[in-house]
Amino acid sequence: MGIEFDDDRVDTGGVDDRRGGGIGLGGGGLALGGGAGVIGVVIYLLVAVLGGGDGGSSGFPQLGAGSANSTGQQESSQELNDRCNADGALDKYTDCRLIKVYDIADSTWDDEFGKRGLDYHAPKLAFFDNATNTGCGQASSSVGPFYCPADEEIYLDLNFLDQLQKDYGAQGTFAQAYILAHEYGHHLQNLLGTEAQMRQAQQKNPDKENEYSVALELQADCYAGVWSTLADQQKSGIDLTKGNIAEAQKAAQAVGDDRIQKKATGKVDQDSWTHGSAAQRKEWFTTGYSSGDIDQCDTFGALGL
Ligand SMILES: [Zn+2]
Repeated sequence: MGIEFDDDRVDTGGVDDRRGGGIGLGGGGLALGGGAGVIGVVIYLLVAVLGGGDGGSSGFPQLGAGSANSTGQQESSQELNDRCNADGALDKYTDCRLIKVYDIADSTWDDEFGKRGLDYHAPKLAFFDNATNTGCGQASSSVGPFYCPADEEIYLDLNFLDQLQKDYGAQGTFAQAYILAHEYGHHLQNLLGTEAQMRQAQQKNPDKENEYSVALELQADCYAGVWSTLADQQKSGIDLTKGNIAEAQKAAQAVGDDRIQKKATGKVDQDSWTHGSAAQRKEWFTTGYSSGDIDQCDTFGALGL
């Protein structure tokens, strides 16, 4: 199912294209600081699958690092811009489509924050292959898509994203839009100070660390839902269909902790959840989508934050 964009102009100015750069992983795997909220929609699924720890900042296993090393030459930013603005590019190229989604997210949130009298600036959208250095440490693509608050960039390895979608049944172009919108949601949490507050609360109440993480993640899902509605209302946005929403809801469920745990180990252990269950993730995305209002995304209420 495609995404219907109101226009097909793509602004590649916010892209930090690191593909084909060939940074190797210096043997350490991931050293992302800060823990849970830093990390993307699907990171813990891999940790769970591969049996790495509990979602702290311990080293994550590498998954086939190096196997998909880019052989192509790096595209210049002008070439990227030309390719993404050619006829049919949004149907043909995943990267161009995601840049378009990112552009729309930027204008919707710029608008929305402006209406609320809040300061806003865009994150960067980084594409990389295999591994890259970030403001949150060195990351390999096996962590899945993630947002780093220290450098305010959303990191995506497109080959890996593709693989994840195949493996976890979160397929479709709007499923990708949801993943990007979720990461964008973490940027909003960074701008709003929610991220920092949540880290402090985690330090004060280590026994509730995972509950706080779940609340942060569900709020990012809710923001992704709000974005869907705002993008639909936006002039140069998208023409949202029921099929799009169904795709996002399915993707939100696919990356629920219970689903992932069950797939990985056959068991479900609620105490170790960091992102929320399939039902919770779908519910919060839907809350955001139905209301179109970030004030309805109070996932921290029950925790008194
Ligand atoms: Zn997240």
